[in-house]
Amino acid sequence: MVSEVMPGIYMIALPFPRRRVKSIDEIKLYVIKGKDGERDLLLDTGLNEEQYHELLKKDFEEIGLDLTKTDIFMTHMHDDHSGLLEKLKIPENKVYAVEKEAIAVNALRTDEYWRARHQRYLKEGLPMDYEEFLASHPNCAYLCSIPIDFTIVKEGDEFDIGDYHFRIILTPGHSPQHACLYDEEKKLLLSGDVVLTNAAPVLFFEEGLDNPLGEYLHSLDIVEKLDIETILPCHAEIKFDVYKRIGEMREHYEKKCQRVLGLLRDEGPMSAWHMAEYTIKDDIPRELMSLSGVSRWFFFLPTCMTLRYLTELGKIKCSPDDNGVNIYSL
Ligand SMILES: [Zn+2]
Repeated sequence: MVSEVMPGIYMIALPFPRRRVKSIDEIKLYVIKGKDGERDLLLDTGLNEEQYHELLKKDFEEIGLDLTKTDIFMTHMHDDHSGLLEKLKIPENKVYAVEKEAIAVNALRTDEYWRARHQRYLKEGLPMDYEEFLASHPNCAYLCSIPIDFTIVKEGDEFDIGDYHFRIILTPGHSPQHACLYDEEKKLLLSGDVVLTNAAPVLFFEEGLDNPLGEYLHSLDIVEKLDIETILPCHAEIKFDVYKRIGEMREHYEKKCQRVLGLLRDEGPMSAWHMAEYTIKDDIPRELMSLSGVSRWFFFLPTCMTLRYLTELGKIKCSPDDNGVNIYSL
């Protein structure tokens, strides 16, 4: 489905498989049309599956987008933003991405990357073997399976397309170098996944991203300082009150921190997985392992990230037990 959301900017909404991610049912891509003779820019790609590629081709036709005259900007590494690069990258176009995101997309195809991720979560008490880990992890089903020759860009780099003058703003946390495009004069932010109306962005440990929540909260400060009238995110509602939502996000994480501190005080030292067994009960009366694969991660990951953040702040302690599992305590 295509709609013109700003003069010369088209939004393409692509569906997700049912219940892939809690509360998020589609990805929104954006096309910024160049003036006569200029190249168009596509922001992000969708999941790597033929049905989404077919939908996208119809949408491209509707807005007269020609891939030989279109470059692509990738906000971040996740499969819903990078997967279809496999089909959309052709010799005639460029794919712009910041360095760590580009490296990550090419690493996502490798067993080495996923083994390292598995090891990291084993340290937080994850009771899954490698196969179960791969089958349940939220970001490994629709990946780009070929190497992509990215054109590396960096913070502050600028893009002039149509009537827009964009600058790259880095907002890490959800991924190592998550990137937004900001037009200062138009007060417009193409915001990727940094602030969403219906969910807290899922935070993951990645190579070069060891305290995702700390980085994410810092990125909220960065976004808050921008003068934004129009926000165009990649999921959920568009054009919302970004400053109000940032306040809600801070409150959300403050509550998580208080809950974690309360549990350590009342129940004593424990691992992140063990703690997630408590925090899940705040939402649903179930055991963590009784949930379907991917759902477990939406309780485990926020708990991991909150514990890591509080450790970095010096508010709690972290030391490994005899099996190398991190045990957190006051
Ligand atoms: Zn993402």
